Amino acid sequence: MRHRGAGAGLKTSALYVVATPLGNLGDLGDRAREVLAGVDAIACEDTRHTRKLLDHFGIRAETFSLHEHNEAAAAERLIRQLREGGSLALVSDAGTPAVSDPGARAVAAVRAAGFEVIPVPGPNAAVAALSASGLTDPHFLFYGFLPAKTAARRKALAALKPLPCALVFYEAPHRIEEAVADLAAELEPGRRLVIARELTKLFESIVDLPLAEAAAWLAADADRRRGEFVLCVSAPPPAEGMPAEAERMLDTLLAELPLKQAVKLAAEISGAPKNALYDLALSRKGKE
Ligand code: SAM
Repeated sequence: MRHRGAGAGLKTSALYVVATPLGNLGDLGDRAREVLAGVDAIACEDTRHTRKLLDHFGIRAETFSLHEHNEAAAAERLIRQLREGGSLALVSDAGTPAVSDPGARAVAAVRAAGFEVIPVPGPNAAVAALSASGLTDPHFLFYGFLPAKTAARRKALAALKPLPCALVFYEAPHRIEEAVADLAAELEPGRRLVIARELTKLFESIVDLPLAEAAAWLAADADRRRGEFVLCVSAPPPAEGMPAEAERMLDTLLAELPLKQAVKLAAEISGAPKNALYDLALSRKGKE
């Protein structure tokens, strides 16, 4: 087998994990393009889908499929070609492979076989949505897709509810209404929901609503329920029952001291629970 990778300045016996556009082809960076043009073969979630991207950029690489149902066999093929000194790439239909997409098991197998895996970072729907959401929480948890069935979805949300961070979900159009209804039913009504739809595409929209109003907003217009969605929910409000005096004390101390010290002192003086003060301090810092 003749290898093109080395000639293209790529590493040999290495797998490049390449993020591809969510919709706007202009988001494929120079490095991603060079890698896709230079590798010996590209493992694709759907070869026909990726072929359109490659054709747009005049890239004539060999492709083969690597999806949920053939991932183990496709990983063996990757490893065989890596043993022969190949430079290979892995892509999914859109965004970053292995993030709520096929690829994670193949990457694990390639790494376990001792080969280098090199990320070529780029588009990712969750990070794109968060970056434009306006949420100021300092931490977030990326959950990906919630369970499809209502009972399991509600159980998952109940477990996520107390976490002191924003939550980020992927959702499909046929489940968006049920998912938003369950978010509103399980989480505190005061939390904000940012619905990011069709990012980087013609009908991109990003709206920020109180969670309690989101179901009615979606129901009001069928267009609001079309396309691909990321849902970002703000972190929970500070623990109920926190005395106003403790909050004021924390704010004063935060202005003068590092966060941990301010929380410790506020807890000692006010007697309010340290964990709740800590979460409140984090949310205050995030809003600065
Ligand atoms: N690996 C991809 C990434 O890095 O974002 C995600 C793949 S996952 C199978 C597909 C889901 O990502 C969609 O159902 C939707 O929730 C989200 N998504 C993908 N493209 C999007 C877009 N243009 N706008 C909003 N959400 C999108």
